[in-house]
Amino acid sequence: MEAIALKDRENQIHRKGEKPFEIVCDKDSLAGAVSQRACVFCGSRVVLYPIADALHLVHGPIGCAVYTWDIRGALSSGPELHRLSFSTDLQEMDVIFGAEKKLENALLELIDRHQPKAAFVYSTCIVGIIGDDLEAVCRKVADITKIPVIPVQSEGFKGNKRSGYKAACNAMFRLIGTADTSNVSKHSINILGDFNLAGEIWMIRDYFKRMGVEVVANITGDGRIDDICRAHGAALNVVQCSGATMDLANMMEEKYGIPSIRVSYFGIEDMSEALYDVARFFKDDPEIMTRASQVIQEEVQKIYPELQKYKKALAGKKAAIYVGGSFKAFSLVKAFRLVDMNVVMVGSQTGTPEDYRELDDITDPGTIIVDDSNPLELTSFLKEKDVDIFVGGVKERPIAYKLGVGFCDHNHERKEALAGFTGMVNFVREVYSSVMSPVWRFVPRKNRNSGE
Ligand code: SF4
Repeated sequence: MEAIALKDRENQIHRKGEKPFEIVCDKDSLAGAVSQRACVFCGSRVVLYPIADALHLVHGPIGCAVYTWDIRGALSSGPELHRLSFSTDLQEMDVIFGAEKKLENALLELIDRHQPKAAFVYSTCIVGIIGDDLEAVCRKVADITKIPVIPVQSEGFKGNKRSGYKAACNAMFRLIGTADTSNVSKHSINILGDFNLAGEIWMIRDYFKRMGVEVVANITGDGRIDDICRAHGAALNVVQCSGATMDLANMMEEKYGIPSIRVSYFGIEDMSEALYDVARFFKDDPEIMTRASQVIQEEVQKIYPELQKYKKALAGKKAAIYVGGSFKAFSLVKAFRLVDMNVVMVGSQTGTPEDYRELDDITDPGTIIVDDSNPLELTSFLKEKDVDIFVGGVKERPIAYKLGVGFCDHNHERKEALAGFTGMVNFVREVYSSVMSPVWRFVPRKNRNSGE
């Protein structure tokens, strides 16, 4: 069965092996295609929200503020101000006469009440339309309160989710370079692009600690304003995920000369490579490489027997992947391969041409590679490929369940750690439980083309 795709979207879908690799991506979603992507504001929100000691104020109608902590449950080891949602709740009169005064009053009241280390003020669609001067209001409130008050230029309509990542990076960049770095070790890194879902950044930090590498700032999982202000003291930026924080790493390289490496913490292969890459960077201290090898050996030994058990049962099963950033997709393809499962469809919301080329390189012939997909296309692909499990986020879950297909949540709202070595075994255990569940004997598998 051929997939359903709007004519103007056909060049965003590639079937490996049918013709030479070519895909169009990194562009605004097609109007009417009902993209799975979120807006610019949401893009900025997912990046900044985990900074736990900051005030996050959404300047806009209350509907935008529905994007709360529940949707990205980034954990904090200390303050939890990020779990509270604040909005200026713009009404009709604010839209007509402007809402700068309302914003100023809201900021002054909230800062007085919660004593945050800094405040982020998010611009939404309507603010972009009425033209409130966020910059001026933030500057005024910062003068009064003596804390950084930072506008996030994230008007929802002005691009796609990637533009929101950029807006968040611009906002954080204003903090970096404002604190003392004299006591930072020369073997130090910043962790960029991990959001501490289910405590993942704590595991990653522990691996680096055992290697003897100091982590200066978590950007942004379990993040703290003071750490971000001194992030320019680190020797290396270790960036996970291709989309969210790469812009910040590039800006830091340009201004402070800090190099960056791209890593993924998902799957044994990529997690190990991440630790080795950091160790290779600090080649002036060979002990770091020795300790990295020890950490990897100890961790793999712990999970290997359990993985073998699942591998036996899962070999030959089919998986489909649709995630936000394609870097995660690379790791998932490798993780499924480790347990002998076949990835038959893989796509992302924000992949670049290089990302999709890499996916084309690492997948098997016949695999569908898709950019910025929608529910109709995804449904069609799952049926065509007769998959056993679909990996995605909150918006993909209903697609799987309606088809009677197993689902694994690998996005913001999950409560299970899937990163790191422990995360790999958690992931495979979850896939095993979903794919092998006896429930499928009683649920009609609507993903089959025969219409079963
Ligand atoms: S910023 Fe615009 S697109 Fe985003 S949630 Fe608000 S109204 Fe919707």
